[in-house]
Amino acid sequence: MNAPMSVAFPARIRLAQLPTPLQPLDRLSAEIGGPRLWVKRDDLTGSALSGNKVRKLEFSVGEALQQKCDTLISCGGVQSNHCRATAIVGAQVGLHVHLCLRGTPEELPQGNLFLDYLAGATVSYYEPGEYGARRDEILAEVRDRYARSGQKAFIIPSGASDEIGLWGYIAACEELKADCARLGFAPDHIVCAVGSGGTLAGLILGNALYDLGATVWSINVDENAAYFEEKIRADFEKWKTRYRQGLNVDALPINVIEGYLGAGYGQAGPEVLATIRRVAATEGIILDPVYTGKTFHGLLNEIEHSRFRGAKNIIFIHTGGIFGLLAQHGEFEFDTRASSA
Ligand SMILES: *Cc1c(COP(=O)(O)O)cnc(C)c1O
Repeated sequence: MNAPMSVAFPARIRLAQLPTPLQPLDRLSAEIGGPRLWVKRDDLTGSALSGNKVRKLEFSVGEALQQKCDTLISCGGVQSNHCRATAIVGAQVGLHVHLCLRGTPEELPQGNLFLDYLAGATVSYYEPGEYGARRDEILAEVRDRYARSGQKAFIIPSGASDEIGLWGYIAACEELKADCARLGFAPDHIVCAVGSGGTLAGLILGNALYDLGATVWSINVDENAAYFEEKIRADFEKWKTRYRQGLNVDALPINVIEGYLGAGYGQAGPEVLATIRRVAATEGIILDPVYTGKTFHGLLNEIEHSRFRGAKNIIFIHTGGIFGLLAQHGEFEFDTRASSA
C-alpha cells in the first residue's frame, strides 16, 4: 500500500466526541453466516449532538467563524437531524441559528424539532412545493433580512453537504484508518446511507486519500442514484477547485444502490421496522426509520443476494438518527400485556 498523502485540512472547530468506536457485530454476523459486520458508531459523536452531521459541522461552522459570521442559517425537513445538530452547535458556540423547515409545524414538537426549539433556534416553515422550488432563494432572503439588521449570516446547505462539510468524512477516514490498523483488518466495503450526499462524498475522497482500500457504497433514502452521482460529482469539482487538491476525483466511483427507498423519504415499511427491532434486540444498536434502518436493511438484503460475495469485513457507518426514531415511535407495535417470567 502507498503511504497516505498528507492532507491539509481547512478551518475546523472540535465538536464531535472522537474517535467513535468501531465495533464488530458478532452475533448478527454469525446469524447471517458472515461476512464480519462492523459498525462505526457515529451515533456516539455526542449526546443530543449525536450523528454524522456534527462531523460535517466541525468544518461548516469552522468556516462560518473564520468569516466572522454571527448567525447560521440552514434548512431541512421538520425532523431534520442536521437542523437539530446545527441548532445545538449554534448554542454551543454562541451563534444565532435560523432554520428554514420543509413542512408544517407539529402541534407538539417531537424529536429533533423539540430540540431545535429547546436550543433556541428561530424556526420558519415552508410548504413543500415552495420549499422544493425556491429553497436557495428562501435561504438568501433570510440572509439578506439578517444583513439589513446588521447581522452577518452564514448559510449551511441541506445536510451540510457541500465541499466544506464533506471534510468531516475525509477526517472520519483518517480515524477509520487508525481503527482498522489497531483492530488488525482491512475493510472490503464501507456502507452508508445517502440523504444529502456529504457523508458519501467525504467517505469516497477519504477512502482514496487514506488508502483504506475499501469499496464505498451507499443506499439512497431520498431521490435516486443519478441525482446523487450528479450532486457528488459537482461537489468533487468544487472541492478540488477550492482546496487545490491533487487527487484525481474523476476516477473515483460513486456507488449508490437503489431499491430501498420504499414509499419515500422518511417512510419506512414493515421490513425496515423489523430490521430495526432485530438489530436492537440482537446487538443493542438502535437504528432509525429514515436513514440507518433502511440502509442496514438494504445491506443485509444485498449480502443475502451476493453483492458482496467474497468479502470478509464490511463496515457500516452508523450515522445516528435516534431522535427521528423517537418521533416515529407510534409506527412500532409491542405486546405490552405479554407476561414476564
Ligand atoms: C443526514 C443523515 C444521513 C445522510 O447523510 P448525508 O450526508 O446527508 O447523505 C444518514 N443518517 C442520518 C441519521 C442522518 O441524519
